[in-house]
Amino acid sequence: MHDLIAAPLQDQHLILRPGSRRAVKVGSSKFADLCDAVAGGQPVPAWLVDVARRVWGVDASGRPADAAVLVREPGPYELSRATWEINLGCDFDCEHCYLGEKRFEGLDWDGKERLLTVMRDAGVIWLQLTGGEPLIDPQFPAAYRLAHELGMQVELLSNGSQLAKPRMMELLTALPPTKTSLSVYGASAETYDGLTRRRGAFKRFTRGLDAAVAAGLNIDLSLIITNRNAHEADAMRAWADRLGLPYREYANISPTIHGGAETLPSQSPEHLTHRAPFTGCPAGHTFFHADPFGRASICKVGREPNIDLPTEGVAGLARLGSIADSLMLRTGGCSGCQLSSTCRVCRPMAKVFQEAKAPLHSYCQHGMKETAS
Ligand code: SF4
Ligand code: SF4
Repeated sequence: MHDLIAAPLQDQHLILRPGSRRAVKVGSSKFADLCDAVAGGQPVPAWLVDVARRVWGVDASGRPADAAVLVREPGPYELSRATWEINLGCDFDCEHCYLGEKRFEGLDWDGKERLLTVMRDAGVIWLQLTGGEPLIDPQFPAAYRLAHELGMQVELLSNGSQLAKPRMMELLTALPPTKTSLSVYGASAETYDGLTRRRGAFKRFTRGLDAAVAAGLNIDLSLIITNRNAHEADAMRAWADRLGLPYREYANISPTIHGGAETLPSQSPEHLTHRAPFTGCPAGHTFFHADPFGRASICKVGREPNIDLPTEGVAGLARLGSIADSLMLRTGGCSGCQLSSTCRVCRPMAKVFQEAKAPLHSYCQHGMKETAS
């Protein structure tokens, strides 16, 4: 496997190290110099030997450039980031889960291989693998490895339940993710198992978290605060602090992607935070989402219309920008709203709340005003 990735990104040129979040920008002449070295079977250029040693502690001196560096081709669009739900199946059944019913289904191996190749050809550099729980997919290890081989920087979004398995940890230490984001659903077995509706879930998570910490993975915790575990919010924060791990808190519960409202009662009312006013989003322009069948949409929320990537290939993504623009128009219940310039949710998110007939105060300024008066 390559030590470094050289990737064009619009008018910039980046050098990346698989598994590291650090990236180095280089000028176009150095990038061209590197491409020549790779094509001509020459050693890694001296300037890159120096950069690799300084930034990542990698010794590339005397190494053939074509073995040490994978040079990525530019994609035809500006889409450099993607998320992929490899499978919606999950070993937990969280009360608040925005995926709602999670069927274990998706592409076969040929389809997964094709999808990852299309993503590479589209110019995706940063790929988030998610689910459901991505690590329970039997083809996760092969897909994870292939994404690395294709020169993508892979981030994992996981519930951590599988991380204590030796084979999983062998894979993730040999090919570290750039980031492993783990969701935390409570600080005690009673609360955690209750929220996830799985006996033993807390034990599996704790073991997985400990294994990931011991392996030195780059971990980021997502503390999920609901009415079930709000009383343990301080304990969850203290747990993260004790481990010295960064964390973010998520307390705003959304309807399901199927427009279902069954998740909303798990909202902890006192933790419903007012988002900052929505000022725009590059969904569909610089990033996209792929579901388990390889259907590409602008993001995880605005799922339709979508593009069948295994069938349509890279060319299909040419439509994504105009799909994104149309989804941002204030239509439906939002058309003509006088408060749209200070709205706190994007239009795709508002639509999901409206379809679920969610209480206005949970997402809309009109409801907030009514509540306040
Ligand atoms: S672990 Fe994540 S995907 Fe699984 S049920 Fe919970 S929220 Fe949903
Ligand atoms: S939900 Fe809205 S803000 Fe979030 S990525 Fe999608 S379009 Fe952007």
